[in-house]
Amino acid sequence: MTTHLKLKAYGKINLALDVLRKREDGYHDVRMIMQTVGIYDQLELQATRKPGIAVETNLSYLPVNENNLVYQAAKLLMDEFSVKSGIHITLRKFIPVAAGMAGGSSDAASVLFGVNKMFNLGLSREELMKRGVKIGADVPYCLLRGTALSEGIGEKLTPLPAMPQCRVLIAKPGISVSTKLVYENLNINARSGDCHPDIDGMVQAIQKQDLQEVAKKFGNVLELVTAKKYPIIEEIKAVMKKNGALNALMSGSGPTVFGLFTDERAAQKAYEELRYGSLASLAKQVYLTSLFNRR
Ligand code: ATP
Repeated sequence: MTTHLKLKAYGKINLALDVLRKREDGYHDVRMIMQTVGIYDQLELQATRKPGIAVETNLSYLPVNENNLVYQAAKLLMDEFSVKSGIHITLRKFIPVAAGMAGGSSDAASVLFGVNKMFNLGLSREELMKRGVKIGADVPYCLLRGTALSEGIGEKLTPLPAMPQCRVLIAKPGISVSTKLVYENLNINARSGDCHPDIDGMVQAIQKQDLQEVAKKFGNVLELVTAKKYPIIEEIKAVMKKNGALNALMSGSGPTVFGLFTDERAAQKAYEELRYGSLASLAKQVYLTSLFNRR
């Protein structure tokens, strides 16, 4: 039995996000183009003689009990398979929290992967994905990674060809956004036609490997809620575009903003401006990274 595992849990951005309807169970049907990026949390799993689940993290404000998604992921598999040993999970967070980058979901996905491996549970990735959706709608995608179309509440996944490589500039304003509240405040019926992202068109652009066309089709209906409330989001997008981003968009329910760049120097310049310029006090976390396409 493997008793110690080190894992990387990667964050995601949404190249497009559309909300179709609210379901009777309270969830929303969505259509999203998901893309993994090179920012990751580090996880260490250690099997212990003492039964139970122990969680430790570098962020003092995160829960270390059953409210942490890594705890829930370990419990889900260990209960189902009556695992007798315990587990100690060390979580080092680097993905911005409550930011629209699926950090918690990705951590949970890594723990599902790790617990399955560590205790030889023999589950396939599809079997882990089926269980993962009980923890969070983005967990199945975080097990798949790469470029993908996500439908239903996020559990219907279609892998897409990897996006052409480019630089990704990520900036998270110093505000936290509750995904639940953003969805609650979205008035789907009042939405005008032109903020409806062309998801099918983006899928075609990805299949043609046309990065310019993908960028032209950026769109996120949740900007109607979050960007309306927080003007900093449009201000960050403007800095990215002014400095040569192909385009810029809010990810998920926000407030994180990302821009895609094919020119390294332009990306560096935009990074410097966000990090040290007039918006620096508002754009709290800024990262320059790349797409992550390994599955
Ligand atoms: P999404 O893109 O799926 O909406 P998010 O980026 O908005 O995700 P997360 O960072 O995953 O949000 O976490 C949101 C909330 O979940 C936090 O306020 C935090 O208290 C709780 N949480 C539970 N487990 C974790 C975890 N492992 N990492 C981060 N947050 C966690």
